[in-house]
Amino acid sequence: MITELRKYGDVYEHEELKPLNTYHIGGTCKYLISPNSVQDLISILKILKSENIKYLILGNGSNVVLNDKEYDGAVIRLNKMNGLKVHPDLQMVYAEAGVVLPYLVTETVNNNLMGLEFAAGIPGTIGGAIYGNAGAYNSCIMDYILSVTILDENYDIKVLEHEDIEYSYRHTMFKEHKNYIVLAAKLFLKRGDKQNSLDIIEDRRQRRLASQPLEYPSAGSVFRNPDGDFAGRLIESCNLKGYAIGGAEVSEKHANFIINKNNATGKDVHDLINYVHDVVLNKTGVDLIVEQEFIDWE
Ligand SMILES: Cc1cc2nc3c(=O)[nH]c(=O)nc-3n(C[C@H](O)[C@H](O)[C@H](O)COP(=O)(O)OP(=O)(O)OC[C@H]3O[C@@H](n4cnc5c(N)ncnc54)[C@H](O)[C@@H]3O)c2cc1C
Repeated sequence: MITELRKYGDVYEHEELKPLNTYHIGGTCKYLISPNSVQDLISILKILKSENIKYLILGNGSNVVLNDKEYDGAVIRLNKMNGLKVHPDLQMVYAEAGVVLPYLVTETVNNNLMGLEFAAGIPGTIGGAIYGNAGAYNSCIMDYILSVTILDENYDIKVLEHEDIEYSYRHTMFKEHKNYIVLAAKLFLKRGDKQNSLDIIEDRRQRRLASQPLEYPSAGSVFRNPDGDFAGRLIESCNLKGYAIGGAEVSEKHANFIINKNNATGKDVHDLINYVHDVVLNKTGVDLIVEQEFIDWE
């Protein structure tokens, strides 16, 4: 089977997942696969199905909490499916799922297209960003999406127009359609001025540096902000800043960040998220919703 899979992409066995997620946690996976193309992805999915092997699509691993045990299936990374076409005249961009946001932002800004400045500091792929409707500073990726190309459970490639996609704050319908794989997206941007965009990006960068613990591995905000409030404020009000389980700690700099301070395990991060959730619920009555995705936890 491995020989067959290797016709369609890079395949590794029992590969470490720590370098593939921004918390730097987790164990190994039975297979790690990077398909060469959409058609190769389809061939790989068909083989996995015939062998009854489960799979997980991993973007840049910047919004996941991985388990320490071996993932008993295939982790599929779309990092080789990373084509990007910028059409400044049409104010349009076509990006394949594996394109990382900072690169996407740089390329659009270089072409005097604006809108995506908010995403310059979000270390995910466009596929992962669409899945969770990533956003910051009152903007989100879905604001700029014209259409999303997906692969459905029957291996059919479909184009969903903006109006076909349900989304809200840090949520899209893709979270309910686990069988959909985001393959690519078309974005519509505003005409802008490169220097103006660079100034905005620098301003946001300074704000992140001042408020977020970027010197430690993390996966960004742990909880969604509840209506009219901030998860960080609630966590801080429960005196949880600095609280640690194993090597994982609630950041002193930003209470809605959990950092891998000292060789944290997946279980440390997992348990700390649950602990913070329960303390906040007991003390304030607010049932915070976890923004990060727990992968393969019972
Ligand atoms: C320092 C830091 C700052 C951050 N700041 C922000 C911020 O300001 N705003 C924000 O929204 N987020 C932020 N994040 C979180 C994260 O970067 C985003 O959520 C990002 O969009 C996740 O993309 P990813 O490719 O890393 O997805 P992953 O973490 O790899 O995956 C997340 C989920 O998406 C699914 N997925 C990934 N690719 C696809 C695909 N092609 N098709 C279908 N499903 C897919 C995965 O299966 C998984 O369920 C931050 C993270 C860090 C570390």
